[in-house]
Amino acid sequence: MLQLRQLRKSYHVGDTVTHALDDVSISFRNQEFVAILGPSGSGKTTMLNVIGGLDRYDSGDLIINGKSTKNFTETDWDAYRNNSVGFIFQNYNLVAHLSIIANVELGMNLSGVPASKRHQKALDALTKVGLKDQVAKSPNQLSGGQMQRVAIARALANDPDILLCDEPTGALDTETSEQIMQLIKQLSQDRLVVMVTHNPELAKKYATRIVNFQDGKILNDSNDFKPANEVDTFNLKRTKMSYWNAIKLSFTNIMTKKGRTALTAFASSIGIISIAIVLALSNGFQKQIDTTMSKALAKYPVTITQSAANFDSFAQEKNSKNVAKNRGYITARKDKAQQSSHKNKITLDYINYIKKINPKYANNISYQVGVNLNLLGKIDGKVKRVQFSPLEAGSTMTEAYSQMQTQTASMSFMGSTVFPTELDKSQGNILKENYHLLSGTWPKSATDLVLVVDSQNTIIDNVLKNLGLNIKNGAKVDLSQLVGREFRIATNDDYYQKLPTGMFIPKKVNSAMYANSKLKLRIAGVIRPKNKDSLELLAHGIAYSDQLAQQVIKENQSSAIVKAQKNSNQNVLTGQNMNKTTKKQVLQAIGGSTIPAGIMIYPNNFKAKNKVLNYLDNWNKGKTKQDKINYTDMSSAVTTMTGGLLNGITAVLIAFAAISLVTSMIMIGILTYTSVLERTKEIGILKALGARKKDITRVFDAETFILGIFSGILGIVIAWLLIFPINSVLYSITDLTNIAQLNPIHALVLIGISTILTMLGGHLPARIAAKKDAAIALRSE
Ligand code: ADP
Ligand code: MG
Repeated sequence: MLQLRQLRKSYHVGDTVTHALDDVSISFRNQEFVAILGPSGSGKTTMLNVIGGLDRYDSGDLIINGKSTKNFTETDWDAYRNNSVGFIFQNYNLVAHLSIIANVELGMNLSGVPASKRHQKALDALTKVGLKDQVAKSPNQLSGGQMQRVAIARALANDPDILLCDEPTGALDTETSEQIMQLIKQLSQDRLVVMVTHNPELAKKYATRIVNFQDGKILNDSNDFKPANEVDTFNLKRTKMSYWNAIKLSFTNIMTKKGRTALTAFASSIGIISIAIVLALSNGFQKQIDTTMSKALAKYPVTITQSAANFDSFAQEKNSKNVAKNRGYITARKDKAQQSSHKNKITLDYINYIKKINPKYANNISYQVGVNLNLLGKIDGKVKRVQFSPLEAGSTMTEAYSQMQTQTASMSFMGSTVFPTELDKSQGNILKENYHLLSGTWPKSATDLVLVVDSQNTIIDNVLKNLGLNIKNGAKVDLSQLVGREFRIATNDDYYQKLPTGMFIPKKVNSAMYANSKLKLRIAGVIRPKNKDSLELLAHGIAYSDQLAQQVIKENQSSAIVKAQKNSNQNVLTGQNMNKTTKKQVLQAIGGSTIPAGIMIYPNNFKAKNKVLNYLDNWNKGKTKQDKINYTDMSSAVTTMTGGLLNGITAVLIAFAAISLVTSMIMIGILTYTSVLERTKEIGILKALGARKKDITRVFDAETFILGIFSGILGIVIAWLLIFPINSVLYSITDLTNIAQLNPIHALVLIGISTILTMLGGHLPARIAAKKDAAIALRSE
């Protein structure tokens, strides 16, 4: 079954050539116990290694089961070693960091025997060599004889056809040697055993055939064998170590050097720590900026009024010019703000366009209606005029009108009396987000009102007095007195009377006016700002829906006063002459115009604001200058504080941190290389057991994989722990809480990067390990 034909193998060291095998021809029977005797350096080990496929011959042929090995690939040799050959060495060659049972299982790992079967086979083999009770021990807890038994058990576990023993008793005392020889003798009953020994007595006593070796040649053979020509019956299963087994093997190895591994992992985690902290800080600052921005932004909605001053160009003008020389004179010029003021022609089309804004970008829009409400209330059973403003009730119409004008003019940023309308009910409601309901319900229908009080639950007494409540300053008004309180709005035709002069004055209130009214309002709820960060969208007092205003306008559009006002350039209430703009305002006030005086759009967040502005810009595309509708974005001042600078700083810091990451990659490379040197013997053993080059690479890749993941996780944990002191320091400096925040996704990505980098760093040494010559590796001490 095993035939050597004119085998030659020589070693070249410098100029000297050693012929370790010099034309060796010998055949072995399938079952016999061959002892090879010979002086030291005669080539016995070399022959054994060549037979076992650990070393390659230079010329001649080795025939296994009738198959020439001349054209054997690495894989064929690996399979041959794993399937057919068991090795026993003088110095046992156990893997020190594995338990003895794991040592025995090692070869079966490579041949892909399932775990449970592997364990059973290993136990059987250990029982056979008499070590049943020692399975949990590690090699260094055993005596030499016991260690050799483990080695025998390992060689046996795969049930090889050939057992190769290189001076198996060389390191053992006589008594133990006899025991081991008896064991080997027993094993030779059903396989070929080739044993190299120094000891002729043992050879004589146990072997069935003795071959004497000298200077790489066979001197004599006590029981020569001349086989008939054999048919090729060579057929072997490929070996393959699974990734999981490679990881387990490396893990036990790492566990034997915990201290060093921990230190290395810590050192290489520093890069991860610094990157993680930089990211956490940048992340936190970005969030901080975003919230600051969106707060500032929401305070200043994008507004569209009928006349918009162009703030932007005004601000630019101011900044871009240097101070002029003193020329001894000054120049008179037009008012910039006035010059750039633009009349926005807000049309129904435009309103409809605004209503179609994507609710994802801006869900809350309030329409500022200029319409005056002809409000009536019942006080102690008597109908009286009431009003929703905190202003002193006017005695004359002129006063009332001027009050109304003040209201319209001041509506822009002071909080409005009309609450925003949601576009999409499923999105956020800006009113509910910023206000807390003290009593009653949120407004549901167009005629539901809310009373807005301040955060201290107070309200200007005039507001209550104007609603018809008879109270003194400092009086406590029960909420139940307010919620559910009803008012009515009279139509213009009921409310005003025409004088013979063509002018109009309000009628004296009467109960018919109240009874005729179709618009019955009630205070649905009392609300106040949620907290000190809440936006005060609404002026303190009564606020109502813009649908209500639309209904009032609808009712009054064809009223006598509106018709009269449309045909006159004089104010029909005061008799004053008016220009076009004033006329428009007056018409709005008496419900003659459906066009709102202003629109306030509340973008949902900072990013959405740009979308909103784009949407508004799109309207203007292709329109002439005077048809364009300009908006005012008061928050644009804040937007200069963009994240651009922060991104730049982050990039620089990460670049620095990345340097330490590369450093740790190199360190891992060095460590892996050291590990390769340390584990040279193990590499030899694995190869003797049939490991492929790939398997060896895999074992070391697995080691760096474990190290990479470990240092990545360690880095993240340390970074996470560091975030607490960092945040408390930042808090004491900036008053901002929890700035540094580690994004879990960043953490995972960093662990991934750490793993990949360490694997890259360790891969080269792993390749070096795989290339190591098994024969040389096993000779190393
Ligand atoms: P034995 O096992 O009989 O003592 P070896 O087979 O180990 O002998 O060695 C045979 C000869 O080959 C010796 O002279 C030894 O020095 C030489 N030799 C073995 N391995 C190498 C090697 N890797 N490089 C150079 N010379 C070697
Ligand atoms: Mg030797």
